[in-house]
Amino acid sequence: MTPKQLEAKAANYQFACPECGDTDNLRVAVHAMAKVTQDPKNENFETEIEGDHEFEPNDWMLCNSCEYEGEVRCFDLWRGGRP
Ligand SMILES: [Zn+2]
Repeated sequence: MTPKQLEAKAANYQFACPECGDTDNLRVAVHAMAKVTQDPKNENFETEIEGDHEFEPNDWMLCNSCEYEGEVRCFDLWRGGRP
């Protein structure tokens, strides 16, 4: 865990950027289920997200403050942050 991540952990955050310590400008790629609509006659093909979304430790996270990006596990203070 980086020194800035240690600071964020002390303030009870779960995720912090390993590079700059940011906790407010993070983005994560999520998985969601979506209803697939297919109407070839009208050339209408759509997906509509249903229910909740989730992400795993090996999904992608990025920091909009410093542009650092990596797996969620590197940001996750509860799992030790970046090794
Ligand atoms: Zn950052």
